[in-house]
Amino acid sequence: MKLYAPSTIRDIKERYGFKLSKSLGQNFLTDKNIIDRIVESAGIGPEDLVIEIGPGIGVITREAAEYAKKVVAVEIDSNLIPILEETLGDCDNVEVVNRDILKTDVNEIIRNCGENFSGVKVIGNLPYYITTPIIMKLLEDGVNADSITIMMQKEVADRIKAAPGTKAYGALSVAVQYYCTVEAVVNVPKDVFVPQPKVDSTVLRLRIMEEKSVELADRDVFFSCVKAGFGQRRKTLLNSLMGIENITKEGVRQALEAAGIDPSRRAETLNLEEFARLSNEIYSML
Ligand code: SAM
Repeated sequence: MKLYAPSTIRDIKERYGFKLSKSLGQNFLTDKNIIDRIVESAGIGPEDLVIEIGPGIGVITREAAEYAKKVVAVEIDSNLIPILEETLGDCDNVEVVNRDILKTDVNEIIRNCGENFSGVKVIGNLPYYITTPIIMKLLEDGVNADSITIMMQKEVADRIKAAPGTKAYGALSVAVQYYCTVEAVVNVPKDVFVPQPKVDSTVLRLRIMEEKSVELADRDVFFSCVKAGFGQRRKTLLNSLMGIENITKEGVRQALEAAGIDPSRRAETLNLEEFARLSNEIYSML
């Protein structure tokens, strides 16, 4: 039986009376090559722990279980739990957790799995309605993993990997690139999902950096600068940063000068290193 075949999904829906939920972003993968690409690009080793977000009926889970020592799959939809018991019943190294990933302490799951793993890989074909909150939660919580290999809406992937000076470059690019190196694995067309989403997808591999590429005096001030700068992206930095942390226009001017950044530039032209330099100068004035 091919678990990923559209006929299998139809059969499961019929036997369990299962209805795909649009609001939970349930677009199930039906292409073995893409499933393989996700799992292979995650670089899972035989001693690794895998945390999967949103297993659906378990197509990626089964594949990952072949490579990993253990897989913990976090699925919000309780209607999928009996289905996963059937489809993953013969996989001794898989545990399914019926929870909302946004309300889950992933590090606690990792800790509860014990010490006997050489690495931790997060994987998943994400529900598109909450892609950004999931990624930011994992990164801000300091998830104790080596990498996050995930499929998402192509437009979000484009924003995450965007370079300064491009239209897609924004607060999300800077935030993710602060924590990770970003690598595009593969673009995925709509027609490999049931049901077909309206958008194309991309698989990204985010490798979490142990040592960040920039040093921040204060992470909150850095993110305030990034947020304020892109919040009013048409404005110059001099105007868009005024007011953050109660800093005056003159204060922003001095910080920009000390950081060697032209005050007439806009946030979308600053690279990560420049944002770090600027926020460190602002922090030193507070
Ligand atoms: N991995 C399966 C596949 O590739 O066929 C399913 C992917 S589907 C795009 C997204 C999955 O995430 C669904 O199974 C959905 O129920 C689940 N999901 C949605 N919101 C979730 C949340 N907050 N926490 C955990 N799982 C969630």
